Amino acid sequence: MFGLKDDWAEEERPRHFFLEDYEGAIARWCPGCGDHAVLSAVQRLCRDEQLPPEKTVVVSGIGCSSRFPHYMKTYGFHGLHGRALPVACGIRSRRPDVHMFVATGDGDNCSIGTAHWVHAVRYNMRMVVMLFDNNIYGLTKNQTSPTTHRGFNSMTHPHGAWLSPLNPLSVTLGITNASFVAQTVDWNPIHLYATIREGFHHPGLAFIRILQRCPHFTASVFEPIQRDPSLVLLLEHGDGIPANDTVRRIYKNRQEHDPSDRNSAQAIADRGDCFPIGLLYRNRNAERYDEISARGLGMTGAQKVAAVNRMLDRFLV
Ligand code: SF4
Repeated sequence: MFGLKDDWAEEERPRHFFLEDYEGAIARWCPGCGDHAVLSAVQRLCRDEQLPPEKTVVVSGIGCSSRFPHYMKTYGFHGLHGRALPVACGIRSRRPDVHMFVATGDGDNCSIGTAHWVHAVRYNMRMVVMLFDNNIYGLTKNQTSPTTHRGFNSMTHPHGAWLSPLNPLSVTLGITNASFVAQTVDWNPIHLYATIREGFHHPGLAFIRILQRCPHFTASVFEPIQRDPSLVLLLEHGDGIPANDTVRRIYKNRQEHDPSDRNSAQAIADRGDCFPIGLLYRNRNAERYDEISARGLGMTGAQKVAAVNRMLDRFLV
């Protein structure tokens, strides 16, 4: 039996997906790079949620982390520098049925891609946006990025970066219609997974800044945070990122934070004395542009022609 129906359509058979079903090419990131951990978390999430690979899309821009789509056995789009989000919004506006992940770096998203970042957050189309923030342009070999700390020696600032770094959390929280802003670290796989999972279930654009180790260029930035968990502030709330006992045992520096409180989220994001992880802000009722752009997708060709004619008739004189 071929499972054909009367109308010759093939019957869909139940499928079960394993981790291997999401594993693409072998990742060519440096050993110890935090990108490996994020890739593993996303593949596990796809398996746990049983996402059909042909209904899953990973979009990226340019940079080390933007090689992400090559390492997933799903649909992918390795775009232009800073252009991951407009590509993702374009896909989302016509394909409400796919699951979408966006991989972008601090150089990609927070510099040349800034305008797209602002508008994509405002559009609030459903997708998980993972900002891999390693504080440097890694692919082009150690150049100051917008999030590089002041005084850090790079190829473009051999005597130390001059300006204070841009704070991606504060910026995102300041954008009209932001609906989900979280931060996590690549070296805690439980918290990393829980954060991406929470973002995946959010009905809108989930912006997740991932503090991502780059042992090649910014080890001096991330090693102290990794070695001393007291530098991390774990945000807790019933509507936040769930943290189990293992995570709570590591991060004793904790704060109860209601993610519906945007002013408090902004104050936490602006703190310079610690690295907050968890959900800073969530608004499930924010407007979604993809709901508007998806209107008419179910129309037949004849209905579309009739609608266009009706529209043109308005201009008859
Ligand atoms: Fe990762 Fe840094 Fe190597 Fe790029 S240069 S792959 S960010 S460790």
